[in-house]
Amino acid sequence: MIAISLQSGSNGNCIYVETEDARLLFDAGISGVKAERRLAKRGREIRDVDAVIISHDHADHVGSAGIFQRKFALPVWITEPTLAWTLRRRDLGRMSRIHYFTSGQTLSFGQTRVTTLKTPHEGVDGVDFVITSRGKRLGILTDLGHAFPGLPETLATLDAVFLESNYDEEMLARGPYPPALKARIRGPGGHLSNEEAAALMATSGNNLRWACLAHLSEQNNTPEKALATHRRLLGESIALSVASRYSVGRPLKV
Ligand SMILES: [Zn+2]
Ligand SMILES: [Zn+2]
Repeated sequence: MIAISLQSGSNGNCIYVETEDARLLFDAGISGVKAERRLAKRGREIRDVDAVIISHDHADHVGSAGIFQRKFALPVWITEPTLAWTLRRRDLGRMSRIHYFTSGQTLSFGQTRVTTLKTPHEGVDGVDFVITSRGKRLGILTDLGHAFPGLPETLATLDAVFLESNYDEEMLARGPYPPALKARIRGPGGHLSNEEAAALMATSGNNLRWACLAHLSEQNNTPEKALATHRRLLGESIALSVASRYSVGRPLKV
């Protein structure tokens, strides 16, 4: 299994995962042009993708679902509440090839399995993902809300993970956001800090070959700070990288 982050952060999310028998895009939060170009940069054709799977109703995850479908003829997988809530606030344009799933359901694409995990993040029906192929397990765990019950146990089963490491606690505290927004980010429906994500991995990330830190805040974090916090708690035991807000990552093998 190979994973490539096309972009990660509040400015748009899209992660490509390729297994022996499936090519999947997780979230459609960047423009069609960007997704197509960034995949092409890694030798992949977006029209070969089998499914676009949406995690939740925030624009940085679902905003381009309609475009991906119309421009590249891609089937979109989404839960009914997520689509309904999205359509109340934004026009995704005409969509025809929609596959509904329920949060918690496991989806099959050939021999590849995608388990969806319900999250307490503030979207209406948010999920995260575990992709299983040939006995290897990859997690895409962002927009988590908080380290909810079951999350450490899931993490303990993974070979590799994209893990949310959204903000540095000190930068958020000193930063320019209004108090209400700071509270929302820190709150149970917000995002994980560097410290929280690192603590989670330190207690349950023993099997991980690599972790790619994801959904970093522009205002309240830097890749250097995120990496330093994780290194401090984890030592050198896990290969660490950061999913960029601005460019396509290198292919990561699971
Ligand atoms: Zn997000
Ligand atoms: Zn979100």
